[in-house]
Amino acid sequence: MAHLVQVGLGSGGMSVIDMLVRDIRISKLTLIEPDILKPHNLSRHLLGSDSVGNSKLLSAVKWLKDRNRNLEIISIDAFLQEPEKQAQINNAIKGADLGVCAVDNEEAKYHWCSLMRHHCIPWTLGEVLSGGIGGFIHTFVPGGPCYACACTYLKREGPKESKDSKPDYSHPSGQVEEARIPASFASIQTIAALHALATIDLLDAKIKSYSFLLPLQKVDGIFSESLKKIVVNISKNESCLFCRGEVKVVNDVDDLLQKKLKELSGGLGS
Ligand SMILES: [Zn+2]
Repeated sequence: MAHLVQVGLGSGGMSVIDMLVRDIRISKLTLIEPDILKPHNLSRHLLGSDSVGNSKLLSAVKWLKDRNRNLEIISIDAFLQEPEKQAQINNAIKGADLGVCAVDNEEAKYHWCSLMRHHCIPWTLGEVLSGGIGGFIHTFVPGGPCYACACTYLKREGPKESKDSKPDYSHPSGQVEEARIPASFASIQTIAALHALATIDLLDAKIKSYSFLLPLQKVDGIFSESLKKIVVNISKNESCLFCRGEVKVVNDVDDLLQKKLKELSGGLGS
């Protein structure tokens, strides 16, 4: 049975975890989310108006238990980077089998990546592009390229530089500046479903670093065609400030990975 840890229960994160808990191999969840549900969230969120004003975390726990009553859920009401919650977060994450990142701020993604590397946990990330014109799905594995390697490849700014700059997620080498246009519920659901599938691959012990971009619309100057998957071959950046120097431990990571593969493939028969 598998322990999944997830940060973020916004519209995308809630949809991803809703799909994942239907898989009975997931027996334990750790969820991290600090926000309450606001009225303007309703048009894109699975949670309904009866949850407005309440914590997304507690409402999500009830929703998820309604769908899989055997789930053990650890809920952590916190911002991922909150210093005083780090011990609790690390403790809860320790020994988890797979991770899901569903936050959209860069600092939290970097922080999540370092937690996942520290605990040798493979994890997935879904990113809906502005306006819902498409989305990225990434799978990160221990010893493989990290989120910072992906950002370097995609020419995104690091968390410290990102305050005043808007990375162009949609066009890795292009200059088209992203505008913050809300995505539709349908776009969010589509990318969430792909994100869930990538996570199920990890459950199926297909533990492989992989990234792709799926355009959901034809957009002049960005996407020539809708629904044509673009595979992004991100390699480990040898001068990466975040994961360089971990080469020495790759052998250990390989051992851990083998062990995890064995556990996942041998211990998850339904
Ligand atoms: Zn890296």
